[in-house]
Amino acid sequence: MNELTLLAEADDRARRYTENIPGRRVFPDQGALQALAAFNEPLPAHGHAAEDVLRLLDDIGSPGTVASNGSRYFGFVIGASLPAAAAAERLMLAWDQCASSFDNSPVAATLERVAAGWVLEALDLPRESAVGFGTSATACTLSCLAAARRVLLARKGWDFDNDGLAGAPEVRVVVSELVHVTVKKALRLLGFGMNKILYAPVNHHGQVDPERLPPLDDMTILCLQAGEVNTGEFDPFDVLIPRARGAGAWVHVDAAFGLWARASSHAELTKGIEAADSWTTDAHKWLNTPYDCAMAICRDSEALAAAMNSDAVYLSGARDAQKNLTLEFSRRARGIPVWAALRSLGREGVVSLGDRQCALARRIAQGLAQAGFEVLNRVTLNQVLVRAYTDELTVAAREAVQASGEAWFGATVWQGRPAFRISVSSWRTTEHEADALVQLLTRLAKPR
Ligand SMILES: *Cc1c(COP(=O)(O)O)cnc(C)c1O
Repeated sequence: MNELTLLAEADDRARRYTENIPGRRVFPDQGALQALAAFNEPLPAHGHAAEDVLRLLDDIGSPGTVASNGSRYFGFVIGASLPAAAAAERLMLAWDQCASSFDNSPVAATLERVAAGWVLEALDLPRESAVGFGTSATACTLSCLAAARRVLLARKGWDFDNDGLAGAPEVRVVVSELVHVTVKKALRLLGFGMNKILYAPVNHHGQVDPERLPPLDDMTILCLQAGEVNTGEFDPFDVLIPRARGAGAWVHVDAAFGLWARASSHAELTKGIEAADSWTTDAHKWLNTPYDCAMAICRDSEALAAAMNSDAVYLSGARDAQKNLTLEFSRRARGIPVWAALRSLGREGVVSLGDRQCALARRIAQGLAQAGFEVLNRVTLNQVLVRAYTDELTVAAREAVQASGEAWFGATVWQGRPAFRISVSSWRTTEHEADALVQLLTRLAKPR
């Protein structure tokens, strides 16, 4: 099979998969899971024909997928992929660009610069900010926090790049009690010891309580949160950020999905967030680009560009070349699917995408409350935190839904007791699937 025939075959198989998503089980059945054992073969001594490789991947692999690119997946905050963004990725595969700088890919550098500007506009963040397109909120948070520490140390006259950390003035970190584990991971990798981190207590909604905020100074990084993973709650930025910046602290906001509320009718939830120094957000969640794609956004563009610089004698780029804003040197042009998503949605489309996710979450919450479930959060966003009548029923209901193959959402623990978390994050989900989820849970959980 020649290359073009093979690619057409791959396209056919991908089309068929997409066509069949509506009828798929959301989580694979036992048969499909057991069939994955077929992949456990020794490294072949002699290569197989490319069409055989593709066939095995589709025949065994496709049934082993989670249908998170469908309408009945409510797990974590995993988004589906918008057609324009998915199609752009298909074409990009043929291009196979190393999108590190203009010299390596003029089209990638151009489109990522456009996408960066559109993101700042859609999210109404300071237009002078640098936007690095990275793999994940985790990686982008790492980049932002590296830039933050470097700036705070430089203000004390410390040359972090050349003198490192030994003997450096101490940089303190304050995070929310409900900080996402990936922010802690980024801090840990950067050498902020977990025992040194200070936790800001939260109120009963899960927001950082300004009354109990640990003291801040000009050697503090304060990490706030827009969109807590269980509740979708936002910290009170309009109170906390002016106070932190007044003290000279650096404010970073983990806004993996919540930042996009700013590009919806719920923008008031993010009031004051624009005053922070840096933000991370994902495109693969709320915006529904394919995996993986996230952004490190830094108000002081020089701070990010200096911290992440990787110019070499054989490859130097503009200050805002993506290789100088992200962890990667060689990289895919992750900003292109963002460009495609934003161009296909337009401003209005971004607003209605977010509004629909939030409205469906409220609809599910109301339906479940009426059916006797306990909804534990205020459902201001796209997250619904739920308990059944007893802890046993809560666990059993979730397991029954997961086993049914009709929908999927994950477990969590809220205030020491089991709960489950329903996230509406797919552009494909409609009222039909929202109502079907309520009916399914009602049937399976038999609440009070
Ligand atoms: C998903 C999430 C992250 C991590 O994002 P990745 O892109 O998976 O690294 C961080 N913080 C919050 C609040 C999230 O929801």
